[in-house]
Amino acid sequence: MSTATSPIESVLVENRVFPPPAGFSAKAAVSGMDQYQALCTEAEKDYQGYWARLARENVVWTKPFTQVLDDSNAPFFRWFADGELNASANCLDRHIGTPVEHKTAIIFEADDGQVTKVTYRELLERVSQFANALKAHGVQKGDRVLIYMPMTIEGVVAMQACARIGATHSVVFGGFSAKAVQERIVDVGASVVVTANYQMRGGKELPLKAIVDEALALGGCEGVRHVFVYERTPTACAMVAGRDKTFGEVLQGQSTECAPVAVEAEHPLFILYTSGSTGKPKGVQHATGGYMLWARQTVNWTFDLKDSDVFWCTADIGWITGHTYVAYGPLAAGATQIVFEGVPTYPNAGRFWQMIERHGCTIFYTAPTAIRSLIKAADSDEKVHPKNWNLSSLRLLGSVGEPINPEAWMWYHKHVGGERCPIVDTFWQTENGGHMITPLPGATPLVPGSCTLPLPGIAAAIVDEAGNDMPDGAGGILVVKKPWPSMIRTIWGDPERFKKSYFPEELKGYYLAGDGAVRSADRGYFRITGRIDDVLNVSGHRMGTMEIESALVAKTDLVAEAAVVGRPDDLTGEAICAFVVLKRGRPHGEEAKQIAKELRDWVAKEIGPIAKPKDIRFGENLPKTRSGKIMRRLLRSLAKGEAITQDTSTLENPAILEQLADTH
Ligand code: ATP
Ligand code: MG
Repeated sequence: MSTATSPIESVLVENRVFPPPAGFSAKAAVSGMDQYQALCTEAEKDYQGYWARLARENVVWTKPFTQVLDDSNAPFFRWFADGELNASANCLDRHIGTPVEHKTAIIFEADDGQVTKVTYRELLERVSQFANALKAHGVQKGDRVLIYMPMTIEGVVAMQACARIGATHSVVFGGFSAKAVQERIVDVGASVVVTANYQMRGGKELPLKAIVDEALALGGCEGVRHVFVYERTPTACAMVAGRDKTFGEVLQGQSTECAPVAVEAEHPLFILYTSGSTGKPKGVQHATGGYMLWARQTVNWTFDLKDSDVFWCTADIGWITGHTYVAYGPLAAGATQIVFEGVPTYPNAGRFWQMIERHGCTIFYTAPTAIRSLIKAADSDEKVHPKNWNLSSLRLLGSVGEPINPEAWMWYHKHVGGERCPIVDTFWQTENGGHMITPLPGATPLVPGSCTLPLPGIAAAIVDEAGNDMPDGAGGILVVKKPWPSMIRTIWGDPERFKKSYFPEELKGYYLAGDGAVRSADRGYFRITGRIDDVLNVSGHRMGTMEIESALVAKTDLVAEAAVVGRPDDLTGEAICAFVVLKRGRPHGEEAKQIAKELRDWVAKEIGPIAKPKDIRFGENLPKTRSGKIMRRLLRSLAKGEAITQDTSTLENPAILEQLADTH
């Protein structure tokens, strides 16, 4: 671990500020900074009272809690432990008998553009029927069900059905390999796997069930008694008699009513693996009560969700964002949301914009990686530029997953948001359950590239390696000083790794996020500077990787994406190595040399000569996790000229490593 304290931090000062539009503030859930401050003060004065109030307001309890926080076995915190609830009832049953009952819950758009809609009443019936099918196959409270599904209504139904009977789901993204699926089946001890015969992505029919078969054959999966197969396409797939059944078979004759099983607040709702950006993925265990509280509260605060909104979070249900802001939060709030099966570039890179227009989307939440790739596409082909669609229905935009480079933020603001929509840059992690540091759209003045301020009650702070507070303007380690209800409970089956990863002794019991951050001296706004392992030290100057990457991406005529890492250097201690994707494609020979020089000079001008990359390599892409995050740990090995021996199970595009290893 190292802290980033350097005058260089202050060179890239962002001066652009975007106050919330007056009309937005007037109607917002949190309207103005005074209201935000009042909530923060409430949490400071009576921390437990504050969370108890939110827990009562946001969650339907079948048995009210009398305890709030139990920290007797820290860092294994418990919240609302004697309360009972059901997560599915909190998303569905609560709306029955209200006007939401017959409202559209999900607008599903398939890869080929076909649209299917379900109301809350219909969704409840489908979830109940599926829950009965699980029960009929012996699934009980506490059993683990592995879900390996495409983005579909059925995927959400499977998750909700598990929650309904108290089974713990573990969703694995449909892009993962058999090996990754097998490891997760073994790790969680799944007894049932829910999958589809195929999935449709970008016009292609891709096998899912065949991958499950391969995974199960890898061994250690003897606990899997049944595989449920959703017939997504008419194409047949191999079925093992006795073990495998189609959805049609398991749902046959099942009632559309199923009483939700009340579980203790601490009962594990799900286990979800992290993206694997920084190491082997961790099986993050979440508790039912605290998680549901925050899923609903943050939808209300951060997205200012109203009855009339059409909400669209583009994340896959295989990621935490797809859990909290597709499968649980919007449903708990009674929203209408879009679920999209396909990819943003099919049939062309205008797909997102076309869908926003088609469905009258009002709130759009996506990842910087998608924004950067759509900018690149729009720059090279006018026809897919967002200006070709009517995006006037939008009123709010969001970003999640990685720091968003200020220039990408500006493009998103201008070309997608029509300079009218606030952007919520939401910082949070799989381990956090919901948003942590984020603007509130009716309150917080926005600064591009900054996730601004912690939500009320989230005790985020920036400290040094010994846990001492850093002054504003100086970078350091991002921590959360107090436990909060939707936090990770443990790493499934590995409490020691949980303690070591998140509560290292030297940090005074604070939760360690693993990211570096800096708070601005003027507003106290947080900006994420990169993973703490990625902090660079060049001739004694400490710099966040994000700083240099954003400077490179700010060369908007040339650069689409950039990732920066350090490698040992005899002279300067560490040298900066930049991996760059150009908008025009990968340059070679003299052209590459010429552009590298141009970029070096540019960084020197933007940040200072000390930040000049010593080595610049060009590629057609960067190594990314399947959730679209840059894997800098692999780039570090490439920069050093080492072979890659680390866990690459979540790497999306292994072929790119060879290209980037080439120093030409
Ligand atoms: P692993 O923990 O396995 O290395 P991961 O950290 O990428 O994987 P996630 O939980 O999916 O897994 O991602 C959380 C991380 O994503 C954060 O720690 C942070 O680095 C990054 N992140 C998410 N949202 C933002 C944001 N708005 N701004 C900056 N960084 C963000
Ligand atoms: Mg992480």
